Amino acid sequence: MLRRKVSLMLLLSVMVMSSVFAGRSMAEMQDIPSKFAEEIDYLLKLEVITGYPDSTFKPNRNVTREEAATMIGRALKLNGEKRDTSFNDVSSASYASGYIQSAYEKNIINGYGDGSFYPDKDITRGEMAFLISKAFKLEKTGAISFKDVAKSGAQSEAINKLTTAGIADGYPDGTYKPDAKISRSEFSLLVARGLNSEFRVEATLKPIGERYVNTTALNVRSGPDVSYDKVGQVSLGNKLLLYQTTGDWAYISYGSLKGYVHTAYLSATASSASRVISIDAGHGGTDNGASGHGLLEKEINLAVATKLKTKLEQEGIKVVMPRTTDVFVELNDRVTYSVQHNADTFLSIHTNSFGGDSAHGTETYYYTSSVRAEESKQLATFVNNRLYKAWGTLNRGVKVEAYRVIAYNPLPAALVELGFISNKDDSMKLGSNQYRDIAAEAICQGILDYYEWKESK
Ligand SMILES: [Zn+2]
Repeated sequence: MLRRKVSLMLLLSVMVMSSVFAGRSMAEMQDIPSKFAEEIDYLLKLEVITGYPDSTFKPNRNVTREEAATMIGRALKLNGEKRDTSFNDVSSASYASGYIQSAYEKNIINGYGDGSFYPDKDITRGEMAFLISKAFKLEKTGAISFKDVAKSGAQSEAINKLTTAGIADGYPDGTYKPDAKISRSEFSLLVARGLNSEFRVEATLKPIGERYVNTTALNVRSGPDVSYDKVGQVSLGNKLLLYQTTGDWAYISYGSLKGYVHTAYLSATASSASRVISIDAGHGGTDNGASGHGLLEKEINLAVATKLKTKLEQEGIKVVMPRTTDVFVELNDRVTYSVQHNADTFLSIHTNSFGGDSAHGTETYYYTSSVRAEESKQLATFVNNRLYKAWGTLNRGVKVEAYRVIAYNPLPAALVELGFISNKDDSMKLGSNQYRDIAAEAICQGILDYYEWKESK
């Protein structure tokens, strides 16, 4: 929750900063060179760069050091709130003071030895290389050298990283021109390539690895922050190609979808990405459970559990079952089996019974003194609410009971009673293959609700 609040604050500050020229589209600015149009349009949409009040972009204007810091600050969604800085020539009154200080604190920029930043000075290609390599955390170096760049040193290394990443090019004559000034359009090109691999020089557009989605639904965004627009979504277990990482964000592709996802929701292997739930079909073997209207509880429980397994697996969730056939399994062993098979959640499927026809409906249990009480209650609630609605049964609610498999269980655990085998209407549903399928689908949705809740906590 904290992270979201901070991001919202950043978003608001960026919006305030750029509100003067916000929404000025490329079409309104006639002076954008077609060669850089895509990259500039990308940055205009993200409000990383803005046009001038007279509807021009001024592509050939040089970029000053404070302008560069501001654009990088916007691209990285740094705190741009005007404030005191560590430099003696940047006061809190300067529009760029917030971004300059934020970038300084993140070690993206450093000033000169005398404590000054020279905000009005035009930035050079060499300085830009340093700034961009720090901002986008470029690490890889390659066998690239330029006639006019020293073989070693901080600037040489930064220029190497920039060209290795496919963000900057040298000139056809083998030079880099580190002391040359940089125009707004050239600068835009570098920032766009820093933010988005698709703009980089073709040869570097190679995936560096594979990652698996470890959450139910993961938003893919146009930039490396939650405030960037959502461009698509990937699902649990999806295999993504990884191109680069920028801080906590990874630039990925999934089919034709490309964009940024947060690295917290990626796993290196498919198995670690999977949720594992234990679906426990109550009773079995010599233990029939309840019976009525020609039905045995153990058979209903297993039929619904088996259908549920299939549906969960289609959602990319791994399922383990303490019993998959008509066998007797001790209650303790059901819990032990689930823990040993790395389940993260436990759901037991049962069928209710009462003397006479009167009692009917759906109810779900959890246990309060479990260390997983809150999660167990949520699981029970999501499953119960999906099920009674889908089945059209009476909602008897979510209840607390010290049933063995949910009370003495280290996992978040719930026990659902589908309906009453002793009631005529309920038993019709319990015995119907179609209704068993509806029950499995509803419980599956309830489990997905639960995982989504758990991830958003
Ligand atoms: Zn039972």
